Amino acid sequence: MDAPFVVKDLPRNDPALLAEALRIQLAAHQVEADWLSYPALPLMWSQADEVARSPHRVLGAFEGETLCGVLVVSARQQGGFHIERTVVDPARFGEGWGYRLLNHLLNHLLPGSEEVSVDTAEVNAAAVALYHKAGFVLEQRWSTSDGLLLWRLNYRRQAPLPALHLDESGWVREARQIPSPNCDERETGVPELLVIHNISLPPYRYGGPAVEQLFTNHLDPEAHPFFGQLRDLRVSAHFFIRRNGQLLQFVPVHKRAWHAGASQWEGRERCNDFSIGVEMEGCDFEPFADAQYRMLEALAAELKSRLPLRAMTGHEHIAPGRKTDPGPWFDWVRARAEIGLPM
Ligand SMILES: [Zn+2]
Repeated sequence: MDAPFVVKDLPRNDPALLAEALRIQLAAHQVEADWLSYPALPLMWSQADEVARSPHRVLGAFEGETLCGVLVVSARQQGGFHIERTVVDPARFGEGWGYRLLNHLLNHLLPGSEEVSVDTAEVNAAAVALYHKAGFVLEQRWSTSDGLLLWRLNYRRQAPLPALHLDESGWVREARQIPSPNCDERETGVPELLVIHNISLPPYRYGGPAVEQLFTNHLDPEAHPFFGQLRDLRVSAHFFIRRNGQLLQFVPVHKRAWHAGASQWEGRERCNDFSIGVEMEGCDFEPFADAQYRMLEALAAELKSRLPLRAMTGHEHIAPGRKTDPGPWFDWVRARAEIGLPM
């Protein structure tokens, strides 16, 4: 299946597209100037032919034929690159287009050794959050003569994603493998759906052995007041991703793990029959760690290449009212952009 979106150099010979890039920049500029209460915010382009003549590289993010956002990047005199502007059509805010543009630039276009910088106003919390999420860190902070606080952020390149290999028996070779008895054959169905959960035992305590003990029926109900409620529970997930990104596997992917319980997706009951369950070590009350998203991305890429996965969802979505995980802190925009599975 073709990807539903593409990031590519903006063609400079298409007047309609240049006009659309200009329109998006003007609309986004208006929104930003309002947010910042700073009408003096400089425009990059005021006419379409300036877009065509831009001395910088201009990337466009497209959904089908529709231009959703533009990123402009220049080569710095001292080496490396500088992001001049990332603008998203205000009608498409919150859909991940800014992140998608940055992700493409950083992971597909720029050589691994180059520095990349960007400037943004400190009060532009949305932009600061976007660049943080893409791996930029604060380098310098200064104030313009009329009092606007600016940040210079630099991209800190991360180690490559871990390479994972799913073997014929359904185990990921690089995972810590802890076979759970809480599984059986998939009576009907093949793995089509990736279900994201969160878990921590005791609640919001990380790093201990209780999750793997629960999934292998070795949890001591006396070890913590909360564990008494879990007595006789027989559950498992295929995978568990710890806060530091470590991957554990309990059930081979061809078997049915007992993670979703009573559930429904696209009108079908018993999601365990046709899903893969991934537990993120965490809770409903704080963000997940970057290392976890990176492992999830690597895991999903390997699973997608070997299984007929076609969508991802959360436990809370297939068991609404009964379950709340992975909860409000799970970043679906990031996960969708990195994993490439629709909700
Ligand atoms: Zn769950």
